[in-house]
Amino acid sequence: MKKDVKTKGTRKPADFTVATPRVASSGSGKGLNLTSAAYALSVHDNAKLPPPGMPEIAFAGRSNAGKSSAINTLTGRKRLAFASKTPGRTQLLNFFALGDTAYLVDLPGYGYAGVPLEVRKHWESLVGQYVAERASLAGVMLMMDARHPLTPLDHELLAWLAPSERPVHVLLTKSDKLSKQVSQRTLQQARVGLARIYANSTVQLFSSTKREGLSEAVAKMTEWVRDAAKNKTPPKGE
Ligand code: GDP
Repeated sequence: MKKDVKTKGTRKPADFTVATPRVASSGSGKGLNLTSAAYALSVHDNAKLPPPGMPEIAFAGRSNAGKSSAINTLTGRKRLAFASKTPGRTQLLNFFALGDTAYLVDLPGYGYAGVPLEVRKHWESLVGQYVAERASLAGVMLMMDARHPLTPLDHELLAWLAPSERPVHVLLTKSDKLSKQVSQRTLQQARVGLARIYANSTVQLFSSTKREGLSEAVAKMTEWVRDAAKNKTPPKGE
């Protein structure tokens, strides 16, 4: 029988206690330390998710949008997210821990050609429920190929997120494939198009190949983790 939760390395289920994220204070200008990312666990079924603990930042996107490359570039790790592409892990939520600060959660890619209906249904229930209901989900980084953003499946993902209005930050990937002028126009159009369908969203250009847009993306994730920490801190007494 398939095991739904796998742990690896030194992280044990006991690590999933409610933790206050440790992020450098805003005054220091430092952000999340993404280079500490380490594979923690994979989940095949929302019922098997660990109890909500550290804030989670999900990475979503159409297959081939450049999601794995973006995760690897942001974490400075050549093959980290390709672990999610190994057989048996493609239809799982793959969790990578940033020390005891946050999780990066690599969601299964969508839109593979010729995918069996059964796989598509599993994706819908796994990803749909996770993004709609997961209490510790702080925000979603959504990868879209800058040459064809906002596909119908991207719309579907945003529709699942809409009731909770969680923040979404879109990376328009492979921006190196566009001229400066075209990429700026694409950014502007995507910003307008996205604002129409999902208010709590931001968007930027990103290139893993040219390593462009990294600090903007890290700043956004840092902001989400800080907000999650603030929301957890009980109000100070007078
Ligand atoms: P995923 O399926 O969303 O995880 O996409 P991958 O990260 O595997 O990337 C899909 C393809 O796009 C691969 O051939 C990558 O080499 C290529 N790719 C990813 N990011 C970039 C980028 O920033 N620039 C260029 N030119 N190609 C990229």
